[in-house]
Amino acid sequence: MTDVDDWVLDSPDVKMQIRFHCPTEGCVAIIEYEPLEGCGGTIACPRCATAIPMTITPSMREQNVPDRCAVCGGAEMFIRKDFPQRLGLAVVIVFGLASVYFFRSNILVSWAVLAAAVAIDLLVYLLIGKVTTCYACRAEFRHATLSPHHEGFDLATSEKY
Ligand SMILES: [Zn+2]
Ligand SMILES: [Zn+2]
Repeated sequence: MTDVDDWVLDSPDVKMQIRFHCPTEGCVAIIEYEPLEGCGGTIACPRCATAIPMTITPSMREQNVPDRCAVCGGAEMFIRKDFPQRLGLAVVIVFGLASVYFFRSNILVSWAVLAAAVAIDLLVYLLIGKVTTCYACRAEFRHATLSPHHEGFDLATSEKY
């Protein structure tokens, strides 16, 4: 999985991908589960080899809609923009350095470079997909069809967990 794949626009053929932290205590692995068709009832953690049970509902399998969390079974989920943070940061650093470089010689170019960085981040923000996230365990469901029952992040709901 590359950075570019993370922000490729979703197409109808793209199937859901589930990403979550290994629930085993002390294990820091991030597990990616896809595609759903070929997966059984469990997935083995690549780091600690624990078999983690996954509950893939008919809604996920047939309509590509996450209705409850496949990892912890939690029914409360929220939808957020899938902003590629490393890309955003890279743009800020590269353009920030370029801006500093031009600052002494040509302040207009310096400002233009900064404006370009903001424009690029904004464009990426507008183009990227959305990711459904589980409140309880923070498992992320990418390339999924959004459920009408899920809304944006709600702090009050989050604090229950
Ligand atoms: Zn693990
Ligand atoms: Zn969960």
